[in-house]
Amino acid sequence: MHERALRLIDLIISEALDEIRPSFDPLKGYEYCLRGECEGVGEALEYLYERGYLRKELHDRVASCPNCGSEVFLLRAKCPYCGSLNFSKGIVIEHLSCGYSGLEEEFMSPDGRRICPKCGKELKAPGVDYIRVADIYRCASCKEAFSVPLYSYRCLNCGHEGPMIELVPKEVYKYLVVREAFESDPISRKILDIVRKLADIGYRVEGPRARVKGRSGAEYDFTIAVWLEGSDEPIAVLDFVRGPIDDERLLSFFAKSLDVMAKERILVTQAKDSLMEAKASRLGIRVFELEDEDLVGKIGEVLLSLHVKGSET
Ligand SMILES: [Zn+2]
Ligand SMILES: [Zn+2]
Ligand SMILES: [Zn+2]
Repeated sequence: MHERALRLIDLIISEALDEIRPSFDPLKGYEYCLRGECEGVGEALEYLYERGYLRKELHDRVASCPNCGSEVFLLRAKCPYCGSLNFSKGIVIEHLSCGYSGLEEEFMSPDGRRICPKCGKELKAPGVDYIRVADIYRCASCKEAFSVPLYSYRCLNCGHEGPMIELVPKEVYKYLVVREAFESDPISRKILDIVRKLADIGYRVEGPRARVKGRSGAEYDFTIAVWLEGSDEPIAVLDFVRGPIDDERLLSFFAKSLDVMAKERILVTQAKDSLMEAKASRLGIRVFELEDEDLVGKIGEVLLSLHVKGSET
């Protein structure tokens, strides 16, 4: 499990957090931060969400860059015909006497009076014989007139540019803590405790759900998988079994742990019985009891003995 996810679990429990909301940074967009730290928090939240410790609720829906997903943009206004930035605002005037309408500049005579280019009469006063009809933009490059510029974006994260219509809606979530997953399940707590302690020792550990690829190419889920740093094959895989272990459970665990080439195979059960333990032992599977006070210590010893053996050969 990620270091960050473990710290997040600590924080959720110790500070009784109910939810984690994203904050908006004008330079980076939405991000998740806890106690001033933001790096890796989003991934850790997603990790816990996938494992049922958090649920998601819609917090915001934003426009995002089609190239990189960022929501931080510089928006630009351009001429919709030629894309030029070089346009200016003008006013459209209608001469009421003759019905002609055109840009204000067409009415301007060199001596500063307003003369209608159609009928040649001088305009008197706004509202009397002429009215301002609309505001309009005039492009200096292509000379086209338009009432709404084309707005385009430049992504401040990746530099991608395009018309705003290209932007992609993106959901931004807040995460809500599923209390029951943390508290009312002693098995989950135990699993997290083991994962945390093994990670502290320096193993690479995944849990409470570890996906491991076997030699056959198939992928298997274990409750916990443990690796030595830099190695692809797990040194140990563990499954936690609620209730007693039956033959089917034992054999399926045996098969998948064999395929992933785990050196140590451990089943942790709530109800240990000696017959099943003997069967497991013949398959090279250790059985530990969930209620065992020293469960973590025993698992640690098994792993340690592997190193010792490994360094001797
Ligand atoms: Zn981008
Ligand atoms: Zn233009
Ligand atoms: Zn006129």
